Amino acid sequence: MQNLDKFYINGEWVTPHSSDKFAVLNPATEQSIGSIILGDEHDVNHAVDSATEAFAAYGQSSKHYRLDLLAALLSETKKRLEDLAHAMVLEMGVPISFSRTMQADAAVGHLEGFIAALNSQKEREELDNGDVIVREPVGVCGLITPWNWPVNQVALKVIPALAAGCTCVLKPSEYTPMSAVIYTEIIHAAGFPAGVFNLVQGDGPTVGAGLAAHPDVHMMSFTGSTRAGTEVMRTSAASVKRVTLELGGKSPDLVFADCDLEECVTTTVLNCFSNTGQSCDAPTRLLVERSCYDQVVDIAVAAANAQAVDDPAKEGDHLGPLFDKIQYDRVQSMIQVGIDEGARLAAGGTGKPEGFDTGWYVKPTVFADVNNDMRIAREEIFGPVIVVIPFDSEEEAVELANDTPYGLAAYIETGDVVRAERVASKLRVGAVHINGGGYNYGSPFGGYRQSGNGREGGVMGLEDYQEIKTLHFG
Ligand code: NAD
Repeated sequence: MQNLDKFYINGEWVTPHSSDKFAVLNPATEQSIGSIILGDEHDVNHAVDSATEAFAAYGQSSKHYRLDLLAALLSETKKRLEDLAHAMVLEMGVPISFSRTMQADAAVGHLEGFIAALNSQKEREELDNGDVIVREPVGVCGLITPWNWPVNQVALKVIPALAAGCTCVLKPSEYTPMSAVIYTEIIHAAGFPAGVFNLVQGDGPTVGAGLAAHPDVHMMSFTGSTRAGTEVMRTSAASVKRVTLELGGKSPDLVFADCDLEECVTTTVLNCFSNTGQSCDAPTRLLVERSCYDQVVDIAVAAANAQAVDDPAKEGDHLGPLFDKIQYDRVQSMIQVGIDEGARLAAGGTGKPEGFDTGWYVKPTVFADVNNDMRIAREEIFGPVIVVIPFDSEEEAVELANDTPYGLAAYIETGDVVRAERVASKLRVGAVHINGGGYNYGSPFGGYRQSGNGREGGVMGLEDYQEIKTLHFG
């Protein structure tokens, strides 16, 4: 792939200073499909200098000018959607149908949300006391993204940064660099001025931490594990950067006996398994009212056993492999932990599904009779594994739901809308999905507590990249 071993700095593809190679592997075949260079401190400095220089003019650009650029970005993105989708099949193992309709589509959906947000935002706001508030870009932004929703995460950071008038350096996950290269080509084709957007490939401890430590970077936006996010925050503290974090989750789904059990539970299980369980807001803890517990376990097991696993290059709604051997080993060890902790393995289990000796495929797995103190109920597994936990009252359901360090999302299944809102108000999470309600582009996305801070998407996602200046007139 052209440009895979290059960085994009100051409007052109350049040869990195570093020569440290890192193989990109196809998780379905375990074969190398190319390699990137992991950047070094010199590469970070080069990109930050370019973004700093570009900020002088771009930071002063008009909203009208930036809206024109975003319109060009929209048209260029639409031309390359299929390329983005295929890149994620190869680098991450996302099945092509899901890659096209969900993963790549996010580049368009979020962009439309941000264009609407920028259009609707008042540039100048007069307060009742006569003072005036204006919004300005934060400055140079360091953007770090994970491998599990590669284009979605890049779009949620790069677009609002550019929309706000910031300049940026993107460090995508070293495991999914191909989609980031294509996204960079899209930005280039849209005609953004040189230096406004820069791409440096690399690992976390060198390029990621280098951006967080850099005195000329004014904001860090990070999506990934709570472990690495904490590091970014700690490193950024020395220069008092603005830091926004989108971190992990262990989201509960509260199932009350008055919902349409067959429909709600099947949807939840498939939602948990979707993207091969590698989504931060997946409903991984199924909390179930005891009166319908046995029935729910049976429905969950039937859904898991019916869930196909297959080659990501094929069209269809099957699951692909996990993204890498690291993740395969992690998921296998957590399934074994569940067995050792005494949970009842109701579907799936350790090992690969029959017929899949090559590739990091796993069995869709259901654990029943779990309690919320078990590690499988507390830690992110990040694979197609769901745990089922009974509750006896609404109060206990809320208590179990909140008994986690995370607070990204929660799901409620009930036929009683009054109860749905009452329960939602007690859950310490950034989003509540009621009876299958899904995320809509343009809405804020983010977590409470150890799931992070800040919100991505739409107006609030744009505001994260803006400073407020108050004008006091004499
Ligand atoms: P990760 O934390 O290992 O890596 C994420 C990014 O951080 C990568 O680009 C990595 O190179 C970089 N990184 C690693 N260590 C770093 C350090 N010390 N300093 C700076 N950067 C560093 O996470 P991952 O395995 O790539 O992604 C999975 C995690 O991301 C899960 O925990 C998942 O829940 C979370 N996630 C959260 C959201 C959300 O919006 N809340 C969305 C997607 C993924």
